[in-house]
Amino acid sequence: MTSQPAPDRRVWKNWAGTASATPARWCRPRHEAEICAAVKDAAPAGLTVRALGSGHSFTAAAATSGVALDLSAWTGIVAADTRTGLVTVRSGTTLRALGAELDGLGLAMANLGDIDAQTLAGALSTGTHGTGARLGGLATQVEALELVLADGSVVTCSASSRPELFAAARVGLGALGVITTVTLRCVPSFTLVADERPMPVEEVLGQFDALAEANDHFEFYWFPYGRQALVKRNNRLPAGSVASAVPPPLPAWRRFWEFEVMENAAFGALCRVGRTVPRLIPSLNRLSSAALSSRAYTGTSRKVFVTPRRVRFAESEYAVPRESLGHVIAELRRAVPRLVDPVMFPVEVRVAAADDIWLSTGYGRESAYVAIHQYTGLPYQQYFDWFESIVAEVAGRPHWGKLHSLDARRLRPLYPRFDEFRRVRAEADPDGRFGNAYLTRVFGPAHDI
Ligand SMILES: Cc1cc2nc3c(=O)[nH]c(=O)nc-3n(C[C@H](O)[C@H](O)[C@H](O)COP(=O)(O)OP(=O)(O)OC[C@H]3O[C@@H](n4cnc5c(N)ncnc54)[C@H](O)[C@@H]3O)c2cc1C
Repeated sequence: MTSQPAPDRRVWKNWAGTASATPARWCRPRHEAEICAAVKDAAPAGLTVRALGSGHSFTAAAATSGVALDLSAWTGIVAADTRTGLVTVRSGTTLRALGAELDGLGLAMANLGDIDAQTLAGALSTGTHGTGARLGGLATQVEALELVLADGSVVTCSASSRPELFAAARVGLGALGVITTVTLRCVPSFTLVADERPMPVEEVLGQFDALAEANDHFEFYWFPYGRQALVKRNNRLPAGSVASAVPPPLPAWRRFWEFEVMENAAFGALCRVGRTVPRLIPSLNRLSSAALSSRAYTGTSRKVFVTPRRVRFAESEYAVPRESLGHVIAELRRAVPRLVDPVMFPVEVRVAAADDIWLSTGYGRESAYVAIHQYTGLPYQQYFDWFESIVAEVAGRPHWGKLHSLDARRLRPLYPRFDEFRRVRAEADPDGRFGNAYLTRVFGPAHDI
């Protein structure tokens, strides 16, 4: 075995700074056999094992005091069939690296979220999603998984082979095993036409269903003290479209100015002012809202889907039945002005189709995703607590990777297949080798079914 436990007691921290841990052992496997060995070797030492992604979950989903499996050397495409679009990828590959490799094959992922820094397995395991009323989360693009189970054995699962493990492990929080490879169903590369424009938030809510249905990828941002929302519509450019009929790509200087300077450097500066003088936040928030401007451009799908996110924040996100979005936003609008600590960051609203993945936030219903954020270092607890009580009224399901306080007792009624998930977990990992405190909170002990 080439991977050696690091001699130091390095601390693991997530991107947002909301979770940290000191693993007893670090492993950076380069081969599948090393992943199997790391899992097997943990048992006699009485250690648990967690696979690490890029640390972009706000929850302590990846935290471990046992063996931290750093999969950053376990990357790349293993096999690709450009005819069927089936591509098998090592689990530690970031979405960014994967997108670049797929480009070279003339392929792309059908949908992505806002960033591409996550690893493929990390993104899948927490139910990461983008937006699009006719599309499910990233896990719906998975055709097969290969996992290392608690006894160190390797299994593959798909809709036809071990279908229960497949239904559980596609959004499985690392509770069933270490995902080693993922087979994705990719689509031919495509171009998106992006249209972003401010609209009064009442108007957006009034037309919400129509906007969701009429666009391939629709979302809006709303600064909670402002009246304007920024509506983003990304639509696929039909093959054979005339270039002059669509907006041109953004020139590099404008991309830099708008994404790096305005949306990161300038917004970051405003946030720092707000953190220093919190009473200014509602005005700064209205200023950000008033400064929203229109833009339209065309680009490769993966570049249009994602934007750089350099200003750090804390986030909570819930999936709610799509028809209850109006109620949730109305309650949020009532709640935000009453908060003791004002909110610097916008609310983001997205949509997704229903799917059949047991722990997907989109399981069995069309969803609207409502994400709330607060700038790093500013208090957020009251805001997030109130938000949770609002979405609880409409059976909201928390994003597994974003801050929430729900436990197994409260999650169980939200997921019709919750008990089946727990049964499959108990069969796959009866000793809780892949456990951690977060999993115990959200699922209960591994053997408890
Ligand atoms: C700036 C920012 C933007 C974001 N945008 C979006 C968005 O648009 N949409 C959205 O839905 N979410 C979004 N997220 C949330 C993010 O996609 C998820 O939290 C995702 O899980 C992070 O992936 P990661 O690689 O960092 O995994 P980590 O956070 O490191 O790990 C997540 C979970 O996956 C498990 N895991 C990792 N690798 C494996 C493996 N090989 N086998 C088994 N389990 C494994 C870990 O143990 C852990 O339980 C965003 C987060 C940030 C910080």
